[in-house]
Amino acid sequence: MGGEMGKIFTLVEHRRGQIHDISFELLTKGRDLAAQLNSEVVALVLGHGTEEVVERVKGEAHQVLWVKGESLKEPNAEAYQIVLSHILKEYNPFLTLIGHTALGMDLAPPLAASLDIPLATDCVGIELEDKRVITIRQPYNGKLNARVSFADAPAFMITLRQGSFPSEEGNLTGKVVDIPSPLEKEPDYRRFVEYIEAAVGEVDITQADVIIAVGRGIKEKENLALLEDLADSLGGVLACSRPIVDEGWLSKDRQVGSSGKTVKPKLYMAIGISGAFQHITGMKNADTIVAINKDPNAPIFNVAHYGIVDDLFKVVPVLKKKILELKG
Ligand SMILES: Cc1cc2nc3c(=O)[nH]c(=O)nc-3n(C[C@H](O)[C@H](O)[C@H](O)COP(=O)(O)OP(=O)(O)OC[C@H]3O[C@@H](n4cnc5c(N)ncnc54)[C@H](O)[C@@H]3O)c2cc1C
Repeated sequence: MGGEMGKIFTLVEHRRGQIHDISFELLTKGRDLAAQLNSEVVALVLGHGTEEVVERVKGEAHQVLWVKGESLKEPNAEAYQIVLSHILKEYNPFLTLIGHTALGMDLAPPLAASLDIPLATDCVGIELEDKRVITIRQPYNGKLNARVSFADAPAFMITLRQGSFPSEEGNLTGKVVDIPSPLEKEPDYRRFVEYIEAAVGEVDITQADVIIAVGRGIKEKENLALLEDLADSLGGVLACSRPIVDEGWLSKDRQVGSSGKTVKPKLYMAIGISGAFQHITGMKNADTIVAINKDPNAPIFNVAHYGIVDDLFKVVPVLKKKILELKG
């Protein structure tokens, strides 16, 4: 195995003091791989005024490399590339994990090229086979799961799609190593200008008290009307699992889950949703969760406070009638 002691480096992405969820997913996966390699996971934090970020990730890694510098105040792929290129050359980790985010997509290819190491992008899985790194990618719009192995090299870089792994709380006590930034000022040819907030859609599901969430069990777009009625009767809003967005039946701002929104309503009804962990991540903290699914073994029942095992097309009309009766 190449790379210094087989260490796993993970980039901690943060913006305005907020750590991107993917960073915890990478650190969780990094710990898992490090355990298999009998090695360590190292968190890379670049920035200015990032004491709280470092404090938060200390428990997630064996070591935190903290690169401080005013030129790193805002995430800038160009500045990150210059700095990381220095650090990775010096430390020579076996594997570097970066989120497949806007920043990661921009950063990883030139960084891997500058280090002359192989890169696999947009991966949804990593496996070690006899210390050989295998990644899982989903080409053709997710229709295939392709196992990709690297040409032999001393080190590798991987970008991972958000929501590919659950994130678990670490219980390490990472040693923090201060590193002054080798970059004095942001590169002239690429500077941070300003933050522009994304426009909020017509409905902001994160603010709703009652959410009726629909999944692939609804079968056809026309059947959404049934659930819209139920949502209206409860004064709630319609949300969905990812396949409903992929089909184009509801807009992306209605998607709940790791690559969608995180919601915490008073009532969350999951109807015809199996309960994949990517979905659960976005709704598990709702006050009351009611699931309707015809499969008694659907994982959604593991997080539901109330469950109805039956055909949604039978249950929903009865439920709606009852609600209207109670409302008089
Ligand atoms: C990187 C990545 C990110 C992802 N991000 C997200 C995300 O943000 N949000 C998300 O939701 N998913 C996400 N996914 C997809 C996720 O893995 C699941 O594929 C998805 O959540 C499944 O959606 P579903 O439960 O609607 O469909 P299915 O898993 O197909 O489940 C349909 C359910 O409906 C039930 N059903 C069928 N007919 C009926 C009926 N007549 N009455 C009652 N029940 C019925 C079935 O028993 C089944 O449990 C992501 C995947 C990846 C790889």
